[in-house]
Amino acid sequence: MSQRLNALKDLMDAQGIDALLVVQPANRYYLSGFELHDGQCNESSGCLLVRTDGPDWLLTDARFTVEAWRHWPEEHVHIYGAPRMEKIAEFVKSLGITGLWVETHAMCAEMYLELGKSLDLRPAPRLVEELRTVKDAGELSRLRASCALNHRVYAELEHALMPGMTERDVAWMLEKLFREGGAEGLSFAPIVGFGPNGALPHATPGSAPLRPETPVLIDMGGRLDGYCSDQTRTWWVGDRPTDEFRRTLDLVREAQRLAIAKVAPGVGTDELHATAREYFERHGAAGHFTHSLGHGIGLETHEAPGVGPIRPTVLKPGMVITVEPGLYYPDWGGVRWEHMVVVTGDGHEVL
Ligand code: ZN
Ligand code: ZN
Repeated sequence: MSQRLNALKDLMDAQGIDALLVVQPANRYYLSGFELHDGQCNESSGCLLVRTDGPDWLLTDARFTVEAWRHWPEEHVHIYGAPRMEKIAEFVKSLGITGLWVETHAMCAEMYLELGKSLDLRPAPRLVEELRTVKDAGELSRLRASCALNHRVYAELEHALMPGMTERDVAWMLEKLFREGGAEGLSFAPIVGFGPNGALPHATPGSAPLRPETPVLIDMGGRLDGYCSDQTRTWWVGDRPTDEFRRTLDLVREAQRLAIAKVAPGVGTDELHATAREYFERHGAAGHFTHSLGHGIGLETHEAPGVGPIRPTVLKPGMVITVEPGLYYPDWGGVRWEHMVVVTGDGHEVL
């Protein structure tokens, strides 16, 4: 954790930021090991006050005192009372800080307005998110274990899937398998799409039974030891897949293969997206590829870097991204295939 804090302070120094309030839950956890989640967006388990020249503080309320001491030096844990924003502002000012950089991209408007009544707030860039893009050895081994569990769940599902089951049955089955495999829970609400529902990239599982000779799209992930997995598969249940399905599956798998082949340090994430898109264009299918190619993954299912045409990032060793091209046809369904890929020193490794 101290290495991470020091790396953050180097970034802060380079940008002239002397005091940063970290409120984003995964950022807070990454730097302290304290509480990965907040209950809901207008609640907070606490925040970190990081300063380039002075002790760093963990600020929280009385419910979390003992938990805070487990992760942070007791003399630098501050328990605030109510009202929360007023007490946080008072404490920050008591340290002689008036200008405070805050994670505006991750705080609720009320917190911003309340703190701003007595502090000079400045929006900070996504500094901790930037650090989190490159995983250290411990994080990589957790992501590896998390993705391995995802593979095991798919291996069981593939055999268990049969006509008569509903999308909800499948969603519950996969959730149980993740939990039984040691996951703390799912990393996102699973997508289980039978037939045309597979054309909705974020379908909600419903209660219609699976009919024979139907395509099934499943996108699922669990959280193991804090780290998320995320993989999509599309199968045909039955033994007479349509030509359309087979052709679409071939196109998606080939686009994915071509994009993954390019994953290496120094390559832009926009280049990966363009590789898949151009392949679909050559085959007249690009109009059915309606989302970006993937995303970074770690403590959150969706984190930096994005893998698409907007705000491209140059890949570095230690980054972990998903590569998940998909083609969607509202009349019969869709095909998506998703792998998690680690950028290595000289190329990549598919998890
Ligand atoms: Zn996914
Ligand atoms: Zn994904």
